[in-house]
Amino acid sequence: MMTAEEYIESLRQLGPRTIYLFGERVENPVDHPMIRPSVNACAMTYRLAEIPEYRDLMTATSALTGRKVNRFVHLHQSTEDLVKKVRMQRLLGQMTGTCFQRCVGLDALNAVWSTTYEIDQKYGTSYHQRFRRFVLEWEEKDWTVDGAMTDPKGNRALGPSAQADPDVYVHVVERRADGIVVRGAKVHQTGLLNSHQILVMPTLALKPEDADYAVCFAVPADDPTLIYIYGRQSSDTRRLERSPVDMGNIHYGGQEGVIIFNDTFVPWERVFMCGETEFAGMLVERFAAYHRQSYGGCKVGNGDVLIGAAAAVAEYQGVAGAGHIREKLTEMVHLNETLYACGIACSAEGVRTAAGNYLVNVLLANVCKQNVTRFPYEIARLAQDIAGGLLGTMPSDADFSLPEVGPWCRKYLAPAAPFPPEHRQRMLRLIEAMTMGALAVGYLVESMHGAGSPQTQRIVIQRYADLEGKKALARRLCGIDPDDLLPEG
Ligand code: SF4
Ligand code: FE
Repeated sequence: MMTAEEYIESLRQLGPRTIYLFGERVENPVDHPMIRPSVNACAMTYRLAEIPEYRDLMTATSALTGRKVNRFVHLHQSTEDLVKKVRMQRLLGQMTGTCFQRCVGLDALNAVWSTTYEIDQKYGTSYHQRFRRFVLEWEEKDWTVDGAMTDPKGNRALGPSAQADPDVYVHVVERRADGIVVRGAKVHQTGLLNSHQILVMPTLALKPEDADYAVCFAVPADDPTLIYIYGRQSSDTRRLERSPVDMGNIHYGGQEGVIIFNDTFVPWERVFMCGETEFAGMLVERFAAYHRQSYGGCKVGNGDVLIGAAAAVAEYQGVAGAGHIREKLTEMVHLNETLYACGIACSAEGVRTAAGNYLVNVLLANVCKQNVTRFPYEIARLAQDIAGGLLGTMPSDADFSLPEVGPWCRKYLAPAAPFPPEHRQRMLRLIEAMTMGALAVGYLVESMHGAGSPQTQRIVIQRYADLEGKKALARRLCGIDPDDLLPEG
């Protein structure tokens, strides 16, 4: 396993990459002040694995080699593994207060593992063996892998092969004896620059005419044909200011962006699906289910931080004892723990796949994520309510530090004794960052759209709803159908 320092160094060791941010080429993303907080957040997945107290959650025994591995490269072997994954994600959400990015790879790992197995069973292909070799290297090198699913999608009313621009979905443009050439882009890519490998999957269920789009493959993150365009997050330039106080979260941040595959060659050894359109839906549904489970961990950990910040600010303002404040904090905890309950439930009800690893309960994972599209917004609203108007009007830390007006800022914006003004400044900035600043992408926008927008969960919930089964229950009880349990009753 890599240490956090080795991980950060390993990113520096990647070959030159074409990266754009703010209209400029970035040569050294690792040490760029806009990007570094996201590197730190992902590095936490390595750092916690080094600490004995967290080892049980952060590591697992490899099903392939029997060696200790970081849980982020682990094929879930039981429902207990699934539960531990959620608990690990909550812990990381607490420690970073944001998206730590590495789960997309873990979720892709488990989804591709079981799907390739089932493709091979049907077609006698060798995708699973290839993927297994890739996974052995992934475990061995303790990679962070970008699980890349979301295509730009162009006109949403049309399928991939009907688009005016065929490249708005990643597709195969050439098949060669030694491999394939792919073209297209993936958007909203979490942790794209903090990954060693990119594992690409289709973005939706496909029809037979979309065969070129049914493609799953891995490429090294420093493949020279890749182009990266960094995504902006609200108030992201706070990171470039001199004082860290106004950043809110002084060390950690998320990362999203666009990856372009500009005629990228992939050797057959790294191709894990190519043309098997009927399996695209299975891969998408499994990846999405795992990632919807993930949100019952990471966003709960972020929620813990936000609830803590709101409770601290209430103390600084002398209102911690007020009944309505306690009531609001209780409601926040109730909502947050409901999300956790969903994350644990879909894990505890997981099932073994034909390939041997464990899949979450798909219906419950989708219910989990559907709640995540709502509750963090209410938690954020309550945090803003408790924080008060200063959340939106506080002078900058530069003014608090200025000889001319600093004393006025500290006199008139002083919290209740014994707290120093800077504590309230910092805590309000943290709430600001999480509910409307740079971390609001991690806590709110991702809660809405990450792992699929709300409607995508409703489609799955509808499919798994078993209304016929529920109707049969009702018919039996009201006497339309015979009572086969208690025929005499
Ligand atoms: Fe992991 Fe959550 Fe970020 Fe997804 S949003 S990568 S589950 S931390
Ligand atoms: Fe996400």
